[in-house]
Amino acid sequence: MKCSICNNDIDVQSNGWKEGHNALPLSNGRCCTLCNDTEVVPMRMAFIASGRDIPTEGLKEIINSQRKARALADVSLKHITKEVNERKKK
Ligand SMILES: [Zn+2]
Repeated sequence: MKCSICNNDIDVQSNGWKEGHNALPLSNGRCCTLCNDTEVVPMRMAFIASGRDIPTEGLKEIINSQRKARALADVSLKHITKEVNERKKK
């Protein structure tokens, strides 16, 4: 199983557990112990310290969908601009 944050293989823990850790709020998937200890747990602590609820959707997935939306908006804007410019010429 691959870590959903760093893409390395998820480590097997001393009790034989191979499924890694819950990667929320960084990602919807599972993560390795290194990412859990250095990224996920500090992120959860930061949310708790700031008094905000821990997101129920991974930030990785939120950022990816925002990137897709932005890319789509970018393409649409370019097309609209191009169309407007072509209409001006006529
Ligand atoms: Zn990892």
